[in-house]
Amino acid sequence: MAELKVIALPGDGIGPEVTAGMRVVLEAVAAKHGHDLCVEEHPVGWTAWEAGGTPLPEATLEACRKGPAVFLGAVGDPRADGLPPSERPEAALLTLRSTLGCFANLRPARVDDELVGKSALKREVAAGCDLVIVRELTGGLYYGKPRGNDGEKAFNTLVYTVPEVERVARVAFELARKRRSHVTSVDKANVLEVSQLWRTVVDAVAKEYPDVMLDHMFVDRAAMELVTFPKQFDVMLTGNLFGDILSDEASAMCGSLGLLASASVGGDVGLYEPVHGSAPDIAGRGIANPVAAIRSAALMLSYSFDLLDEADAVERAVRKALADGLRTADLTESGERPVSTMEFANAVAEAVE
Ligand code: NAD
Repeated sequence: MAELKVIALPGDGIGPEVTAGMRVVLEAVAAKHGHDLCVEEHPVGWTAWEAGGTPLPEATLEACRKGPAVFLGAVGDPRADGLPPSERPEAALLTLRSTLGCFANLRPARVDDELVGKSALKREVAAGCDLVIVRELTGGLYYGKPRGNDGEKAFNTLVYTVPEVERVARVAFELARKRRSHVTSVDKANVLEVSQLWRTVVDAVAKEYPDVMLDHMFVDRAAMELVTFPKQFDVMLTGNLFGDILSDEASAMCGSLGLLASASVGGDVGLYEPVHGSAPDIAGRGIANPVAAIRSAALMLSYSFDLLDEADAVERAVRKALADGLRTADLTESGERPVSTMEFANAVAEAVE
């Protein structure tokens, strides 16, 4: 029996709705597998700003630092548009990621058999697709210094060090070992010195994993292959900027933003969040798809608590609900009756073995 302590930050918009859906599933899996679950909720984002003038209160950050696992629903609210950047809800997310030292972002993109018709790609291209993008999250162009904009000239710096590439490469190779043992490292080594170093380091790390196949691909080619022949990919390893773009591209093949989960790992505490935002256009109606949140909880069970059977049980339960024909509004065809967020989540909770 394990003690599962989870810091939940429901956040804004549909964040609290999908967090509630995630919680019933987590409670079901904990009860069925005999674990002690303790979920502690804290404010973040616009909700926190409204209450106390900051999107990431110190008490929230302190709770997250203790972890060991943090779940975040979503942040963002149109009412925050006039706030200075450091007070905007999204600032909380960036601070949280860097404070927790989550240097590797994992985004699975799998096309569910039942939803292949909802993919943005042709059925025969999308069917059977199952890949994970491992994106370096705390370095590269988004953090490099110097950076600036004087109105006449603007610049950012792309920089990676050997240890930064080594540690994220190891995450990708370890993950590949649990999957189909294939890493594709994506860079722009034909143009960028940083990518040449990236390639050399990834080649060196690969020697520690002789059982994993490695290939390299330029990012422009990878963007094209993702929509023409995505089945070739198992684990895609890449830097912060390329990963940001490619992971959104990969998400288009799955059918709805409401399906995609993520895990940010590497520090002592793991951060788990659906890929989607706060969806103000549908917030408060109880119609959001909770699958991304529920799948994020499955990633949490596996990465923060090493409970692989429990993570599998959640994934199987999601698939059963889909196979039973349950669909939230983002996935229904005209004439089909959608289920609510909690109807879907409760069905998953009941199906957990
Ligand atoms: P979004 O992801 O919130 O919504 C995009 C579209 O997808 C909307 O039409 C929305 O209704 C739909 N959608 C998203 N999640 C869904 C779900 N679970 N079920 C059904 N439909 C879903 O992106 P946006 O509209 O560009 O951004 C809204 C706010 O969220 C902004 O303030 C943005 O900054 C913020 N944001 C936050 C995060 C995060 O918290 N991790 C990520 C992205 C955007």
